[in-house]
Amino acid sequence: MKTLSHHIAGAPRPGASGDWIDDLAPATGALIARVPRGGAEDVDAAVRAAREALAGPWGRAGAAERAAILEEAARRLEARAGELAELESLDTGKPVRLAREVDLPRAVANLRFFAGAVRHDRTDCHEAAGALHYSLRRPVGVVGLITPWNLPLYLLTWKAAPALAMGNAVVAKPSELAPLSASVLAEVLSQAGLPPGAFNLVHGLGPEAGAALVVHPEVRAISFTGGTATGSAVAAAAASRFKKLSLELGGKNPTVVFADADLEAALEGTVRAGFLNQGQVCLAGSRVLVERSIHERFLEGLVARVRALRVGDPADPATDLGSLISEAHRRRVESYLALAREEGGRVLCGGGRPPRPGAFLEPAVIAGLSPASRTATEEVFGPVVTVHPFEGEAEAVAIANGVRYGLAASLWTRDLARAHRLGAALEAGLVWVNCWLVRDLRVPFGGVKDSGLGREGGAWSLDFYSETRSVCIRT
Ligand code: NDP
Repeated sequence: MKTLSHHIAGAPRPGASGDWIDDLAPATGALIARVPRGGAEDVDAAVRAAREALAGPWGRAGAAERAAILEEAARRLEARAGELAELESLDTGKPVRLAREVDLPRAVANLRFFAGAVRHDRTDCHEAAGALHYSLRRPVGVVGLITPWNLPLYLLTWKAAPALAMGNAVVAKPSELAPLSASVLAEVLSQAGLPPGAFNLVHGLGPEAGAALVVHPEVRAISFTGGTATGSAVAAAAASRFKKLSLELGGKNPTVVFADADLEAALEGTVRAGFLNQGQVCLAGSRVLVERSIHERFLEGLVARVRALRVGDPADPATDLGSLISEAHRRRVESYLALAREEGGRVLCGGGRPPRPGAFLEPAVIAGLSPASRTATEEVFGPVVTVHPFEGEAEAVAIANGVRYGLAASLWTRDLARAHRLGAALEAGLVWVNCWLVRDLRVPFGGVKDSGLGREGGAWSLDFYSETRSVCIRT
């Protein structure tokens, strides 16, 4: 069992309260770590360290120096990718293969990409008669990063890399349900030469450490990824203090399959979008809309494929689905299966508990529900998809857009003009055509409606993690 510490001013620091949170391995229920239960005092110490870093060598470091540190951190993270993939799998219950193939390479890519981005960043100059106006980018200052448990290292580096690239000092609060990789990241950044205080980590519970970070007067920006209800509380607390705010929230993303699609590819994509990481992905395609003429055939193919998914030991490279994040979360997902039955849905496969310890759940496909039902409109965040027939483009768009969320959509069709039409008509921050989860770090990422506020990625991240200053020189 590990004993974690906060990471403040470049060194491990015990929690001020002396209280601990248990970190359990969801696949076995075993106690794997004790995590300090951070609070306002720890956050305050971290913010002080961050401010000192900004007043010291870190505040004077140029873009090239910051980029070099991020590149060195990427190299070190990559060298430890195997160990970290195992850690991430242990902490979250996700298959180690997934952590190895997705979480780790993407975490490394985040560090490398934003090192490159800041090296290539440029600002504007506007020449006028008698005056020259140019822009400078300045760090925002101390930024707070709050991240969830589903992609712990990937999402933390997604925020920390651009924040550090732009010269900010970071105080991060990872989810206490999956805190292990954040501690390794803190260590790796220090070893890569990041000055003390530039990256601080405070473990703890959201309503305690997280809330203290959001309201801290010296924290000038908050980037939050998590659920919509939490995001709303974070937004309310941050808005009255005029903090910069980026919210990446939940989704209930449609996978829309037209009769003209390559059905084999669409089936494969639908299964991946619905069940990767046990469906615990904000971008998960949890509502499958299928054109009526192929609905029955598609449903049959989908159920056959989902039945064939292997649920089991996350450490086994043959496993497709590991454990959900916790017993409490499994019960929440199961409550939606019960609700689906009450709402008239037919659970065509899955939904049961495999005969093993841990928070495992067999992947479920549900048909027969109204697209307006609660099961089909609320975020379940588990291995559950609902399938709905539609007739023609207009109905597909109406159903797809008929939820409070608007994060992503995946569209399967061979009709190029239709792809363009729906790409414009779907209310989502991201639309994939004949694919899902194809990411490019240059592309804006974020949601509309209740899926969030603002965009990160590429230049959008550089904008969020900096303040642009306009300087005017009379010539
Ligand atoms: P939560 O909203 O419960 O938590 C997210 C983070 O916020 C955690 O670190 C949590 O700490 C913290 N937190 C909780 N309450 C507060 C508070 N009052 N003030 C400040 N911080 C707080 O989400 P989950 O961790 O359960 O993650 C699942 C959710 O995240 C899903 O809704 C999913 O859609 C969304 N998500 C969105 C993504 C996107 O990019 N749009 C990507 C990935 C996930 P603690 O863990 O201690 O509660």
